[in-house]
Amino acid sequence: MTVTLVTGANKGIGYETARQLLELGHAVYIGARDVERGEKAAAELGARFVQLDVTDDASVNSALATIDSAEGRLDVLVNNAGILGDGPIDGPTALHVFNTNTVGLLRVTEAALPLLRKSANPTVVTVSSSAGSFWAVTNPERPEFNLPLPLYSASKAAATMLTVQYAKSQPGIKFNAVEPGTTATDLTAAFGIGRAPEESARVVVRLATLDANGPTGTFQDEHGEVPW
Ligand code: NAP
Repeated sequence: MTVTLVTGANKGIGYETARQLLELGHAVYIGARDVERGEKAAAELGARFVQLDVTDDASVNSALATIDSAEGRLDVLVNNAGILGDGPIDGPTALHVFNTNTVGLLRVTEAALPLLRKSANPTVVTVSSSAGSFWAVTNPERPEFNLPLPLYSASKAAATMLTVQYAKSQPGIKFNAVEPGTTATDLTAAFGIGRAPEESARVVVRLATLDANGPTGTFQDEHGEVPW
């Protein structure tokens, strides 16, 4: 059975990704920072639960240690946890956004690498954003051109870059970044935009279920590769 960890899986795109991967027969660990929300989601889905706050080294290490002792490996890691980081543009806000969206994926990935190396087909998916694409934010035809979210965009550009760097340094593991599509979740509630999480999760699931010959070091949305 494929052993999968999805971070930030108690709601939104992460929750739906977990649900669809469970349907495909994966043994899914719901990573959530809040025990009550995480346990509730895991119980609803019939998934396993690990407490995992991507900004907390001890929490991340303990979550991966739990999976290691139960499963002895990890096949699929979905780095999904993320925040919009609206509010003032200042140092503390920037540190918080980067700590969650960028350093968070590094923390989880570093803790997961030893378990991923024990998998026959290890795959890591970063749920990034086209808001972090230089091509999109400089293209007046794209909605990202007018997006007033500099910290979110910069943290996602860095998340995509880290994913590419991991693909280069870890040739035995597939690392791909994904733009899931604009989705109606708590993250976008203030804008009142987006499609159902079920649809966007399908884009994440496609990259989470690549076979051994699948691509690595790419940034994709549902239409294919997204320019950097
Ligand atoms: P969401 O419904 O707000 O879900 C975000 C998830 O991340 C929640 O489970 C949240 O947990 C979790 N999270 C936040 N900080 C965390 C931390 N420190 N440790 C662990 N988990 C944490 O938003 P979403 O739209 O599904 O977003 C999922 C991912 O998709 C994000 O990376 C986002 O940037 C990306 N994305 C979304 C869209 C979109 O249109 N919605 C588009 C492109 C990319 P709590 O419930 O505890 O807050």
